[in-house]
Amino acid sequence: MNLNRFLVKPNSKLDLSKIDTAYTANLKSKGEGKKLLLENIKKMRELQSQLYAQDRYSLLLVFQAMDAAGKDGTIKHVMSGVNPQGTQVYSFKQPSAEELDHGYLWRINKALPERGRIGIFNRSHYEEVLVVRVHNLIKFQKLPEQFVNDNIWEQRYRQINDFEKYCYESGIIILKFYLHLSKEEQKKRFLSRIDDPAKNWKFSSADLKERGFWNDYQKAYEEAISATSKRHTPWFVIPADKKWFMRLVVSEIIVDAMKKLKSEYPKLSKEQIEQLKKAKEELLKEG
Ligand code: ATP
Ligand code: MG
Repeated sequence: MNLNRFLVKPNSKLDLSKIDTAYTANLKSKGEGKKLLLENIKKMRELQSQLYAQDRYSLLLVFQAMDAAGKDGTIKHVMSGVNPQGTQVYSFKQPSAEELDHGYLWRINKALPERGRIGIFNRSHYEEVLVVRVHNLIKFQKLPEQFVNDNIWEQRYRQINDFEKYCYESGIIILKFYLHLSKEEQKKRFLSRIDDPAKNWKFSSADLKERGFWNDYQKAYEEAISATSKRHTPWFVIPADKKWFMRLVVSEIIVDAMKKLKSEYPKLSKEQIEQLKKAKEELLKEG
């Protein structure tokens, strides 16, 4: 699959309305997609063990989306085969009183994955330029007035880019996914959550209220993603109307990134190889 298709090129302007939410590439069936997903899960398991053994890099997967786009399901399916000891999932909700007493990256920094692990963010610091922008929540953030002005979003994009670059240079590979759902498909999913008693718990009337801000959110997403998709910390826009396809593409992108990482593993120096040989000789001499 051509994964470049889903990548938001650095310095490009994203127009979400031009991206087909129901795209399924040249795959013929859901079954075929599911089979490929299983193969990727197997590959991820192997690559994860190497990541863990190497203890140098970590992987951070950031998921953002409108309600009912399938963040939870994607996280569950895509990570189903990997060793739970090597993964850490964080779901970011409205900040607590303690969190509001710090800068917004405080809780994010604390949740970054350790070396060798895969970290998953279900929502993230991007909420700070999405929901906070759409609902004008800045006023609750206790910031000094001098820093709250019309430039605040630009300022946050810069801070986020700097922070993510620091993460990258510390060994954290960041992949950011926007699960791109159509408004029509969201309506269908909400209705099925209301009609199906087994899904009732998933529906909250707050979700309907947020739906009313659809266009504001799309605009905030476009701007934030355009400003923060960088070569080493890229955004991917994943068509989300077909869940099986969305999960497959996410798994493809993860496997691809992990493979690249593998080829960057540091090689042993000549001296280190000599040392290994000597150690082997010594052990064998023991008889
Ligand atoms: P689900 O509904 O599938 O359980 P969810 O991610 O929607 O998952 P909720 O508890 O419904 O979880 O919603 C969390 C809410 O917290 C969202 O509305 C989100 O916008 C909000 N939120 C997250 N981070 C921030 C933030 N920094 N500032 C304000 N609101 C935030
Ligand atoms: Mg919710």
